[in-house]
Amino acid sequence: MSSAGVAEDGGAGFDTVGCDMFPCYGNRTDTTRRYTLYMVAPVIPITKADTSARALPIPAAAAGAFDGTTLRDTRGRPIRDLRISVTDRCNFRCTYCMPKEVFDQNYQYLPHAEVLSFEEIERIARVAVGLGVKKIRLTGGEPLLRRGIEDLVAMLAQIEGIDLTLTTNGSALAAKAAKLKAAGLHRLTVSLDSLDDKTFRSMNDVDYPVDKVLEAIDAANAAGFAQVKINMVVKRGVNDHDIVPMARRFHGTKNIVRFIEFMDVGATNGWRMDDVIPSREVVARINAVFPCAPANPNHVGEVAERWKYTDAGNEDAGEFGVISSVTEAFCSTCTRARLSTDGSIYTCLFAQRGYDLKSLIRGGASGDALREAFIGIWQQRRDNYSEVRTAETAKAKKVEMSFIGG
Ligand code: SF4
Repeated sequence: MSSAGVAEDGGAGFDTVGCDMFPCYGNRTDTTRRYTLYMVAPVIPITKADTSARALPIPAAAAGAFDGTTLRDTRGRPIRDLRISVTDRCNFRCTYCMPKEVFDQNYQYLPHAEVLSFEEIERIARVAVGLGVKKIRLTGGEPLLRRGIEDLVAMLAQIEGIDLTLTTNGSALAAKAAKLKAAGLHRLTVSLDSLDDKTFRSMNDVDYPVDKVLEAIDAANAAGFAQVKINMVVKRGVNDHDIVPMARRFHGTKNIVRFIEFMDVGATNGWRMDDVIPSREVVARINAVFPCAPANPNHVGEVAERWKYTDAGNEDAGEFGVISSVTEAFCSTCTRARLSTDGSIYTCLFAQRGYDLKSLIRGGASGDALREAFIGIWQQRRDNYSEVRTAETAKAKKVEMSFIGG
């Protein structure tokens, strides 16, 4: 075990990070599990056959679908963001994303050969940027588990005109922040669901201590990531007591907390509407302690709704955000495509099937063919899941968030 808690696992291309307590099937008495039984269905291990079974036929690109600058879908939404899942593995078992009952020791992750190589990721990213993508976010699973992630960052940082970001659970960040910065990473987002150590440990479900993530955020700031975004998924009765303490912790700093409504992502997290705290309520709770006011979005399609603290005479009081996929759908301005760990494009976080680009690449497709495929996929896009969500749709066998990177 190295100083930062990173251990090599014998050449499978992934580092086991953070605490060596995983897998440790702790107690099952904590409150986070009370609803898990509602919707869990056994997840079939994802194999090559699965990928092809899940793959949608790639539509032919209509003539003139791409005007040379921006590729738009059927609702006029430009493709602007590409989220890339570089691994389907994670060292946490966050109950709203990779519940331990499903992602257990017997869970079969993608065979290494089915995972996109850095060169394949870069190739797809360059095609996407050529069609209008301005922001690339590296995700997972836990992207810092992918060995050589700094090399991938350095490769993508060569692509001109992009905002290169990464979302992490922070468990390896303290050790890697400076290297990621040096490799060319522009911005960081860290998931932090509670400041209360007991709550945090039960939500990540591997008993990982909150202090280590707070230290990692400090290390990221020190490494030059002046403004770290912090994602908190809020569940009623689980961690909503921590909304105001979280706001207090980062109030007056450059770091920005985004409070995320608990979503019915994937098919395993036992989602119920009763467990959702609407963003309106989150804002009201914070405003009661720290007066705040709505702020304009930084750009069209920004996921988080911005709220600025209005402390008298203190311009640097900072801001926070809310992400309201459940109660205030924002599909009308959704500009996000997702590249799964096994090389398929998903046009919505709540999609059930994707478009397999990996087979195209490994089948020897030319750059033009890959580009035509991308155009064909996006131009016919109609996704609007959050506008049509019901208790029934929530049960659909949607792709797991850990496979397409949130
Ligand atoms: S539900 Fe799908 S289409 Fe709507 S905002 Fe989310 S990812 Fe975009």
